[in-house]
Amino acid sequence: MPKPDNAQKMYKCARCGHMFPVGPDGRATCPKCGHDCSPSKCQVVGASNEDY
Ligand SMILES: [Zn+2]
Repeated sequence: MPKPDNAQKMYKCARCGHMFPVGPDGRATCPKCGHDCSPSKCQVVGASNEDY
């Protein structure tokens, strides 16, 4: 099935640097330190399979 956005967006936590997937509503809470991330707070990085 086709996916409109094949690049999984990730947040890089501004507090601890942990990277985790952006939630469906565009924000997410860092599972490591509990920092509440939104696009204005944490850096959004597009994870691709060309990382390595
Ligand atoms: Zn964190």
